[in-house]
Amino acid sequence: MSKQTKFLLPESELPTHWYNLNADVGPLGVELPPVLNPQTKEPVTPDDLAPIFPMALIEQEMGAERHVEIPEAVRDVYRLWRPTPLYRAHRWEEALDTPAKIFYKYEGVSPTGSHKPNTSVPQAYYNAEEGVQRLTTETGAGQWGSALSFACQMLDLECLVYMVKISYEQKPYRRVLMETWDATVTPSPSDTTEAGRRILEQDPDSSGSLGIAISEAVEVAVQDEHAKYALGSVLNHVLLHQTVIGQEVIKQLERAGADWPDVIIAPTGGGSNFAGLVYPFLAAHVDGRPKPRILAVEPDAAPSLTKGQYTYDFGDTAQMTPLVKMRTLGHDFVPAPIHSGGLRYHGMSPQVSALYEAGHIEAVSTPQLPMFDACQSFVRAEGILPAPEAGHGVWGAMQEALACKESGASKTILFNLCGHGHFDLSAYEAYRAGELVDLEYSQDEIDKSLAAVPQID
Ligand SMILES: *Cc1c(COP(=O)(O)O)cnc(C)c1O
Repeated sequence: MSKQTKFLLPESELPTHWYNLNADVGPLGVELPPVLNPQTKEPVTPDDLAPIFPMALIEQEMGAERHVEIPEAVRDVYRLWRPTPLYRAHRWEEALDTPAKIFYKYEGVSPTGSHKPNTSVPQAYYNAEEGVQRLTTETGAGQWGSALSFACQMLDLECLVYMVKISYEQKPYRRVLMETWDATVTPSPSDTTEAGRRILEQDPDSSGSLGIAISEAVEVAVQDEHAKYALGSVLNHVLLHQTVIGQEVIKQLERAGADWPDVIIAPTGGGSNFAGLVYPFLAAHVDGRPKPRILAVEPDAAPSLTKGQYTYDFGDTAQMTPLVKMRTLGHDFVPAPIHSGGLRYHGMSPQVSALYEAGHIEAVSTPQLPMFDACQSFVRAEGILPAPEAGHGVWGAMQEALACKESGASKTILFNLCGHGHFDLSAYEAYRAGELVDLEYSQDEIDKSLAAVPQID
């Protein structure tokens, strides 16, 4: 019998709606506390958010409609790479000598190489619909900046990206990609904003931080009536847009004749690719299907689920965002400079945090060396080079597969391979040269930054 390896869907099977978890918090027994205005400590209103986001996205952020229709213009752009393939990892199963059946959804086939355009495209679309002319954002290593640059090019918007200066100088390739899509990329801190000038006055050689870049991007959006700001993870509307991933997977598993998965695994930074894979399975559970074990994998260096506290905190270091209740390490926490730049965030999306509190999901963390070991094992069997962020899902799947080898159980394991590592070859080079170290996180530092979160009762 031939071993079918890829399970592809025709474009006609592209999802027509996104699935909104807000609609099912009741049946799931999950409580979602309100987002608070940091000045008044009252729940935020749409008017509070209107200077930075378009109304359609604010409605999606707060709305509870179970299925939100995907505009045809967004589906047209999705068709450039969606539906994405689901793979059965026959070769890796053999290499690991496991009786487990391993499936992975591959989001690295998008134009930017990750799941992020699933949300950058609709965000650009709704802004364009409301007459916005330019979007601003921040980017660290450049994954989100490239996704937004691509989307703005597709939807005819200008894109202004504030890129953390050290990455701008040390990681030129994603910058070149963004500029090729016609974005304006500015190293942050810059003299184009008040926030940037203030930092440069104190420290002309500042290498920048995500917090400073956010302040610059938000300042430009607030001051320019034709500009708004876009965020690549954490918020409800971002997680909503990612649910095309899991919806496709459910159809693909059916076509594969596969069992309903026993365990679903995804890496978590702010929670968006995790939500994208997992939420449609929670919806199916509400509709009567069994609930798989659901496992979030985070880096030891930014362990918001496993070591954080569930409390109100700012979404950013600069304390410009509303207060959200989430698992957080404290907004001052600066994760060690691991190679998984996309997972270096102090908090976890409020929805994913609430699911964790309610006991619907489990979380584990890993240092980066064993994660790269798992990626090497995977790439030698399957050929696809995972982004280090995605490697956390690979590591999680490998642990489960090896546990099956131990127990003899033939479980069905599903994970999200949310991006390729073609822009991360310097990390692989360091790994192969034996130069990668496991950076210890410090409980002291977590305690210190947690002491600085605002007290809300
Ligand atoms: C940005 C990114 C992440 C982390 O963000 P989430 O919102 O947690 O998904 C993970 N993997 C890749 C490949 C990314 O680009």
